[in-house]
Amino acid sequence: MLFAHDTESGLVAAAALVNTDGPDREGLPDVAALDEFFTAHGWTGRHEHTEAELRDVRALRPRLRRIWYADTDEVVAVVNGLLRESHALPQLVRHDDEPYHLHAVPRDAPLATRMAVEAAMALADLVRMDELSRVRRCDHPDCENVLVDLSKNRSRRFCDAGCGNRAAVSAYRARKAASHS
Ligand SMILES: [Zn+2]
Ligand SMILES: [Zn+2]
Repeated sequence: MLFAHDTESGLVAAAALVNTDGPDREGLPDVAALDEFFTAHGWTGRHEHTEAELRDVRALRPRLRRIWYADTDEVVAVVNGLLRESHALPQLVRHDDEPYHLHAVPRDAPLATRMAVEAAMALADLVRMDELSRVRRCDHPDCENVLVDLSKNRSRRFCDAGCGNRAAVSAYRARKAASHS
């Protein structure tokens, strides 16, 4: 592992949340979809299953997406803004068999607030370690997804929605077409 567990899981969850907001696809169409996302990404704590909660989580996505298009100073502005608005107060906590780790808002804070703060804390770690170059967009020309490259040699180019395969297939077809001409 390159970073602390909470940092890595926070980054992965933030990218996954941003990617639910596609240009032609809504990945969080209803409360049930948010329930599924909540479980799939190992969220615990307060979860209301309401339209209001869904609306707040959706509204967070464009703010987080900005991070993937921003330079360091802008990322810092977003991160500090999220921490300030959420009244973040780092505390070491232990729950659900996990070892002590940092939470910066209480577990009964609204889900969107906790998602914002977890993403902000993880990004704060990357900024401190000068590793923001790992926050990247998918290389596939038709893809708007974001990713976080947690590979040792920084070799990740594609998101996990199958773009790596798609790119390999088109490269193969292009080679084949070239060899027939
Ligand atoms: Zn926790
Ligand atoms: Zn992609």
